[in-house]
Amino acid sequence: MTEQKVTRATFDEVMVPNYKPQDMVPVRGEGSRVWDQNGKEYLDFTGGIAVNALGHANPRLVKVLQEQSEKLWHLSNVYTNEPALKLAKRLTELTFADKVFFCNSGGEANEAAFKLVRKYAYDNVGPEKHEIISFRQSFHGRTLFTVSVGGQEKYRKGFEPVPEGITHVEFNNLDALKAAMSDRTCAVVMEPIQGEGGIIPADPEFVRGVRELCDQHNALLVFDEIQTGVGRTGHFYAYMELGVEPDVLTTAKALGGGFPIGAMLTTDKCAESLGFGTHGSTYGGNPLGCAVALEVVNTISDEQMLADVQRKHGLFVEELDRINHEHGIFEEVRGKGLLIGGALKPEWHGQGARFLAAARAEGLMLLVAGPQVLRMAPALNITDDEIREGMQRFARAVAKVVTEGPEA
Ligand SMILES: *Cc1c(COP(=O)(O)O)cnc(C)c1O
Repeated sequence: MTEQKVTRATFDEVMVPNYKPQDMVPVRGEGSRVWDQNGKEYLDFTGGIAVNALGHANPRLVKVLQEQSEKLWHLSNVYTNEPALKLAKRLTELTFADKVFFCNSGGEANEAAFKLVRKYAYDNVGPEKHEIISFRQSFHGRTLFTVSVGGQEKYRKGFEPVPEGITHVEFNNLDALKAAMSDRTCAVVMEPIQGEGGIIPADPEFVRGVRELCDQHNALLVFDEIQTGVGRTGHFYAYMELGVEPDVLTTAKALGGGFPIGAMLTTDKCAESLGFGTHGSTYGGNPLGCAVALEVVNTISDEQMLADVQRKHGLFVEELDRINHEHGIFEEVRGKGLLIGGALKPEWHGQGARFLAAARAEGLMLLVAGPQVLRMAPALNITDDEIREGMQRFARAVAKVVTEGPEA
């Protein structure tokens, strides 16, 4: 067979239309720069949606992946392996957790967490204690259980019937949570910063209140740190800054730096409820993913690295404020570390795609978080010069869209 020429148009011919990718096909990346099929260069402020925490083709990750690829790729969980054991040991050293379950994505990590909290309550209290409470606009993945726990109805619509025993309450509203909780509640699930929901940080006081309510009702607290974890906020996990420990934490995205891997972290006591044979994943904890993730974790858990993420937050906000001063498109710039959201003013709501397309034309890769927030989640090792250069491109894109004006 001769080599086939594929383009963006091929997508519409052969792919299920559940995505609508930008009008170019990237072929190569290096650090925070990406090149498309035509050789056009882009600065990457997306980080593969908070995944490529160490940039594209990071030499240390490439080396680890190459070395491991020549030893062992896959065994199944009939055997354990050294990279998985080393990574689990490291994650338990760095966090509240005593035990780790590996899988391949965020949705799968949450699926494990939600099954665990149900099973833990079943084992320790009884089947009536099965209710899960989560928050409006939250996002926890696309499997049927995770879209059900997630607080965005649009992701459930048409897929009913969905699992029962799940309640959604207003985020950052402790009274609403208090009213919803009972002794039937087995767990409260939350993102320390709602990511897909629009980069909405939880108030520290709210988080402390959630922990207290969970303790009062003998319910577990699950932190979905799939987007906020592994250095994204300038802390290794976002909970570390909040002074509140969860019982279960899910992590994925940046954990593999681009290699698919997810994990659920928990305590000894909770882990007992996922006894032999209760849950599993064929690829979970495979040596390739774990070897890469160990290198990612060791690189990012460095204090200097994390401090630098906090410093770069300042640079991002400064640049965005300057652009906003000139063009006035944002109501608010918010977020932590290198997870940054620019909440658009009402006249721009629903028009995020226009800013993305204009940015792409200027050579900048950008994200949205819901219909009214522009999101930036670059590699944590993006340089100051790359930030400034990307912001110049962004400023040109914004100027162009503003000149055209908001859609009526
Ligand atoms: C991305 C994300 C998920 C889902 O992860 P997948 O790897 O896409 O399954 C779950 N929760 C949060 C907070 C996320 O940002």
